[in-house]
Amino acid sequence: WGRRKNITSVLAEQLPRDIIELLRRLGELGEELGYKVYAVGGFIRDLLLRRPNLDIDIVVEGDGITFAKAFAERAGIRARCHKKFNTAVLIFDDNLKVDVATARLEYYQYPAALPVVQFGSLKMDLYRRDFTINTLALALNPDEFGQLIDFFGGQRDIKEKAIRVLHNLSFVEDPTRILRAIRFEQRFGFRVGKQTASLIRHAVKIGLIERLGGQRLFHEIQHILMEEDPVPAIRRMAEFGVLGVICPSVCFDAKAEETLLQIKEVLSWYELSFLDEPLESWWVYFLGLLSRLPHKDLQKVMERLDLAQNMRERIAWTFQRVNQVLGDFLRLPHQRPSAIYRALQPFRPEEILFMMATTQREEVRRAISHYFHRYRHVQPEIRGRDLKEMGIPPGPVYAKILNRILDARLNGEVRSREEEAALARRLAWRELEAGEGKESHVHGS
Ligand code: ATP
Repeated sequence: WGRRKNITSVLAEQLPRDIIELLRRLGELGEELGYKVYAVGGFIRDLLLRRPNLDIDIVVEGDGITFAKAFAERAGIRARCHKKFNTAVLIFDDNLKVDVATARLEYYQYPAALPVVQFGSLKMDLYRRDFTINTLALALNPDEFGQLIDFFGGQRDIKEKAIRVLHNLSFVEDPTRILRAIRFEQRFGFRVGKQTASLIRHAVKIGLIERLGGQRLFHEIQHILMEEDPVPAIRRMAEFGVLGVICPSVCFDAKAEETLLQIKEVLSWYELSFLDEPLESWWVYFLGLLSRLPHKDLQKVMERLDLAQNMRERIAWTFQRVNQVLGDFLRLPHQRPSAIYRALQPFRPEEILFMMATTQREEVRRAISHYFHRYRHVQPEIRGRDLKEMGIPPGPVYAKILNRILDARLNGEVRSREEEAALARRLAWRELEAGEGKESHVHGS
């Protein structure tokens, strides 16, 4: 049964009271239905690491779907069931989610290559997991509530700060675990254990990464780039030879590290300055990684990762346009606000931050900073409706006038609604005259 100890005091210290109450209710319902119920995985790991995590995964020894439906009905919430996998999600009003999995009581078909071990169903469920630190379970049924169940040395490895697999074929079974190991290692400041590290090296050497489907590979890379600080994990990917097999020319040399560190700096600047504007920071790192590839290799990597067509096009577009804009800035370092606005406005903030990280020029960085702080949300006060009220005949000329007013506003040439209106009139006249001029020219010829 593995080692057990009661950790209700850790629960009380780490979790909000209503979550503890929820765990108790899950256990009580299990008891009523004659099922054993456990909270498992990352939730328990993070509990012991004192890291906030309310993604609750539970395993039911019994029928997870019956359990979820009964719980949902009693609590007046929704349960989304996946019959095929015998899993369900309990969806609470306040965004809280509980994933319910079934540890079947019947016989398990296990890959022939693995030693046949007779397990209880919880133990079997946990044995299929990636690392020992993710195999801890917490009993929820009333008479054993709060008991920590540790079959595979998860507590020891948390104490030793070690990422270890459960058996030697783990990476053969699922090569994405190579990237997961690297991600967890860096996230928690742990170290991949010696034996596990040599299993990773071996797995990379015998080409297991090559066997991974593009989308799964991309998904794992994306997850690494979404971590708080992905740079050490990328370095580790290079050390384990993972980057090299994805694309031989994606290397992690001093220049690459410099680019990624610049990205990190630029991202923290942005996040501090614009706290409430969400950013897909992984995208900036991803651009950083790809940016140093020769064109042909870029195509190969995008192919390898099976990126959607629109994503490929956006990446190619970004690199091309960023180069263009940086070239323009080099030729004309001191541009007017309207020119900076026009140059940067087609880009997403992530792409501009990538540009900011790749340039060494202080004046370009300053221009970008001004764009974010001052220009990007500027709008003329008058609208098409106002032009109509002024008696200007509607047509394509409206867009032209409003754009010119925006430029004037950005450059500080107009500062009020009245000044905008006066400019609109002047522009409309000019357009009208130009139109008539053209007409008389046509008539004259
Ligand atoms: P995160 O905070 O990144 O979500 P997590 O540990 O909760 O971390 P998930 O990816 O949500 O990770 O996975 C939930 C659980 O499922 C993990 O704790 C792990 O035990 C198990 N798991 C996920 N992916 C794998 C895999 N490839 N092989 C084995 N077990 C896995």
